[in-house]
Amino acid sequence: MAPAIDETNHQRIAALGARVLAGGSIDRDEALWLFHLEASADIFDLLAWANRIREQFKGNKVHLCSIVNAKAGGCSENCSFCAQSSFHQTGSPRYGFVDPEPVMQAADEANQHGVTAVGLVAAWKGLNEGPMLDEVCDRIADLAKSGKTRPDASLGIIKSQKVADRLKQAGLECYGHNLESSRNFFPKHCTTHTYEDRVETIGYLKKAGIKICSGGIIGMGETREDRCDLALSLRDIGANVVPINILNPIPGTPFASNPKLPPLEILKTIACFRFLLPRREIMIAGGRTVNLRDLQSMIFTAGASALMVGNYLTTLNQSVEQDLQMLKDLGLDPNWESHDFRDQDEAACGCAPKAATAELVSA
Ligand code: SF4
Repeated sequence: MAPAIDETNHQRIAALGARVLAGGSIDRDEALWLFHLEASADIFDLLAWANRIREQFKGNKVHLCSIVNAKAGGCSENCSFCAQSSFHQTGSPRYGFVDPEPVMQAADEANQHGVTAVGLVAAWKGLNEGPMLDEVCDRIADLAKSGKTRPDASLGIIKSQKVADRLKQAGLECYGHNLESSRNFFPKHCTTHTYEDRVETIGYLKKAGIKICSGGIIGMGETREDRCDLALSLRDIGANVVPINILNPIPGTPFASNPKLPPLEILKTIACFRFLLPRREIMIAGGRTVNLRDLQSMIFTAGASALMVGNYLTTLNQSVEQDLQMLKDLGLDPNWESHDFRDQDEAACGCAPKAATAELVSA
């Protein structure tokens, strides 16, 4: 006989969902309880509420991003999930900083498909003042001048306000810099730089007026508490776009034999992030196809409002046409005239005042 549905769980999920829908927030204990839900009936309850929250704050809009691997492989850092680290033997391609042509080609393709942004991603520790910063700024300025797509970048650690200001002056609008995991779990996947380096970089970027794209990777061996603390830290730093990557274990990396997360655990995690970050763009990025397979379209039911399309840095994705068809079939609209993130502004939202005060984890 099927186990009886736990009415208490049903009611508690509904109460938390209704609070978020009304403009309130949930605290760490409440969020942890959601992350620990196990029964599929409870998880599907949670997804239904996450879907309502997404619809309340995002309507049927979906934010699409794509990336260009602007400098590949040979990275000095030892991130255990990454095929591009020089510490791991992965056979991943290596090349120096990209010429202007492939960047403009990526902008054309993004424009054709209604993709909001193209991000230049470089496999290196970070960016300092000097000729490389000049070259990076030239590429960003080219993208900005073309008017075809929003120029974004993910260029690693920044150690000075001047660098962040130069990027802003070149036309950069949004910078990708993941916290990757909780502060507690971070040293278990990277020891060549720190969580604090990443938080400091985000501080310079915010001060320069650049929007923040910051999320992490799940499936590295972290606990549900780590995932919850990552989401709370992202709430605390005010990330505008929150990419959730799902580990795709790459042969040659220390995480090559990590067990894959069950798809329902992934969908539940996305839903918990939506409960904690109701107005933010929750973007499903690397590892989507390989981990979710036929359940990919359920990411939106789970509360996702953004999608990384096209191929990832070192792995393949399903085609952009397939993704666009998936969105159309779901009644979702990827065409933003221009996404200036004003819908994330609480004052502009018109919702009821907060019903509860967030208990924030300092980043
Ligand atoms: S994740 Fe980034 S910083 Fe870490 S090894 Fe890969 S390219 Fe380098």
